[in-house]
Order: sequence, then C-alpha cells, then structure tokens
Amino acid sequence: MLTTRPRGINDILPGDVEGWQALEAHIRHLFSLYHYEEIRTPIFEHTELFLRSVGETSDIVEKEMYSFEDKGLRHITLRPEGTAGVVRAYIENKLFAGPAPQKLYYIGPMFRYDQPQAGRYRQFHQFGCEVLGSDAPVVDAEVITFAVDLFSRLGLQDLKVSLNTVGCPDCRPAYEKALVDYFAGHEEDLCDTCKDRLHRNPLRILDCKEEGCKALAAQAPTTLDYACDHCKDHFAAVRGYLDEVGIAYELDSTLVRGLDYYTQTAFEVIMTQKSGAQNAICGGGRYNKLVYNCGGQDTPGVGFAAGMERLLLILESQGLAIGQRRTPAVYLAPMDAEASKMAFALAKALRAKDIAVEMDSMGKSLKAQMKNADRLQVAYTVLIGENERLGGFATVRQMATGEQTEIDLDKLVTYLEKGIKHVATKKNT
Ligand SMILES: [Zn+2]
Ligand SMILES: [Zn+2]
Repeated sequence: MLTTRPRGINDILPGDVEGWQALEAHIRHLFSLYHYEEIRTPIFEHTELFLRSVGETSDIVEKEMYSFEDKGLRHITLRPEGTAGVVRAYIENKLFAGPAPQKLYYIGPMFRYDQPQAGRYRQFHQFGCEVLGSDAPVVDAEVITFAVDLFSRLGLQDLKVSLNTVGCPDCRPAYEKALVDYFAGHEEDLCDTCKDRLHRNPLRILDCKEEGCKALAAQAPTTLDYACDHCKDHFAAVRGYLDEVGIAYELDSTLVRGLDYYTQTAFEVIMTQKSGAQNAICGGGRYNKLVYNCGGQDTPGVGFAAGMERLLLILESQGLAIGQRRTPAVYLAPMDAEASKMAFALAKALRAKDIAVEMDSMGKSLKAQMKNADRLQVAYTVLIGENERLGGFATVRQMATGEQTEIDLDKLVTYLEKGIKHVATKKNT
C-alpha cells in the first residue's frame, strides 16, 4: 500500500508532463487572446454548493462525489467540476460589482469516484470558462468560437458543433410537460433507469444511451417547438454570429441538460476520429439561473468545460502530440574534486546568463560523462581535467561537429553564450 497509489489516480511523469505544460500554455494563450482572466478556486468547497449547482439528481452528486466531514464537522466535497466554485467566488468576492461581463477561466484537477478506464481517472483535469453578467447572444457565440479555435489550433480536424436551445423558465414547463406526455405514451419501451427519470427528470431521457430510449428520443418533441419568442430570437442571433465567422454547427434536439438553471444555448464540440467514432471533446451552454440558485443576484452566465486527459490522448492518437522534453544547452564534465568546484561556479555563471546547464555529480569517468552528454543532446560539453585546471582553460566540445577548442576560463561564459545563440538561431531558421 505504501508504494501504491489509490485506485483510479495517476502520476504525470517527466516525459508526459511536457505535453501537459504545452497544453496549459496553449490554453492560457488562447484565453488571453479572447481576454479571459484566470481564476483559481480551492480544491474543496462546502458540499451544499455542489448539491445546488451540479444538481441533487445528477450522477455526480448521487454517486461520484468525494465527500467527507472535516475536523470541524463541516460537510466538505472535493470539487467534481469547475463551474460551482467560480460562481461561488463570483458571488462571495462581489465580482458582479466589477466590469460586466466577467470573463473567467480555470485549469485544474477535479475529483469523481468514477469507474477508472483509459483516459478517465478519479483525479482528472479540466479547463473551462465562465462568462458572468451578460445575456447577449454574442457571448454564447464567443464561447463556442473560442472552443473551436482552441481545438483547431491544436491541429484537430473534423470538428463539428452540436447546438440546441433548452428554453427558459417561461417556456420550459410546457416543453417538459409535452415530453412527459410523449414518453408516458411509450413507457414500456423505456429502460428501467428512464422509467424512473420519467417522473424525476424527464429531460435526461433524451441523453440515455440505450438503443430503445435513443429511438424514442429521436421522435420526441423538441425544445425549439416550445421555445418562447425570446428564446427563439436568442438562438437565431447566436447562430447568426456563428455563421458570420464560418463556424459549422448541427442542430441536435437531444442535446439538453436536465437542470432548471440551464437556459437557452447548449452545445458540444464533437470530433470524428479516424475510426469513425464520435467524441464530444467539450460541452457547455448558458445557465442564467445558476448564480441565483447558488445564492447570488439573478445573473446570466455561459461557459464550457473540457477534459484534458482525453484531449491529450486524442492528440496523441492523431499524431498531434505536443510538448518536448527540455534538454540543457551545456554539460559540464569535471574530472576531479577540485574541477568539480570550478564547474559548480561556472554553472552558476552560465545560469545567470539564462543558459541551461547540467553538471556531473556522480564522479563518473570521462567516457561515462560523454555518454551522458550525448544522451542529454546538449550543444556543448565542457571538460575540466587536471591539465585544464592547472592551465586555466577548459576544453569545449561542440557536440554537433565533435570539434574541440581550448578556451581560457575567463572567456568561457562569453564564448558559450555566443555559441548557444548561434545554435538557437540556426535551429529557428
Ligand atoms: Zn423561453
Ligand atoms: Zn433509458
């Protein structure tokens, strides 16, 4: 047990972590282009917050939360998703008093007690954004455009947007009634879970994966049939903005979210794999009643979230893996204890010039050190043996050519600095 991690969680090791860093840098860069600012909320919150925001009838709350009592007997839950904490922070820190809308993004670990499988862990990572304080359709369109932009720039192709409107508190009740009437007429054909959903949360029947339920869902009344004028206008305007920038979308009337605070726009970005399999790589939409549900003033909001483990797996499977293991530019190879001290000082001087340096700390033979320098793919290896030490110079080996030069110690930093700039320029051209 001591040397085994709990089931369903993962270590991200050197060699893999560079992909994560590159993805995070990409996400931050894109968000800054759209002027979203990062918010970092805590890993745990009061359990109550998730009951209100994620919803008591959701799978997450019913089965998947990591909840516990702390030593002060508070009910605490490790966050299973990012939106609730952002909304709580928005209310608590009075961000609504700042300029509207607030455009916030997050990147970080989330926790769900889920069945572990490839790309799915109990501690997993999501990034996402929340735009709070605007009900303008252009904001929905910006969030969707952002998501497509982010995935496209990673090289993903065959992306499509699934789009729907889920109505609002004015038009939703009539729709839900129509839906219950429709499914009640076909109750025998529903799976057992959906028979139960019929009276608790009928909208969720629409995203059931059972074939019988799927077939029924395809024929069910759609939200658009029941949408009020306000919701219809909003939806048309969102589509108008997407058309304007050439973002392709397909209407999908089964794309709904079973909670009251979701309003109007719902979307997913879907990717078609080479195998033909379709995966949603992010999902989001508008939630004009969520801030109010969580105890704030009535405030419109829209956002999306995406899983990072799966995104990295998809990138790799498409030959689009990002992030490279970094290598030092210089390897210092001291041959004895006295030379090791000189190398140590030299390393400090080179690092002060922003040159990445590794030096031998194992007292290895010259041959072993040269092997190490090769493995690290450095540009230069600096040998300091007894001759060099006594003569006040170092032997510098340019690894690409094998050429060796003796350089006075007091000129060494400048020499390497120039050489490395030269190498870097050559690499870039
Ligand atoms: Zn409506
Ligand atoms: Zn079902």
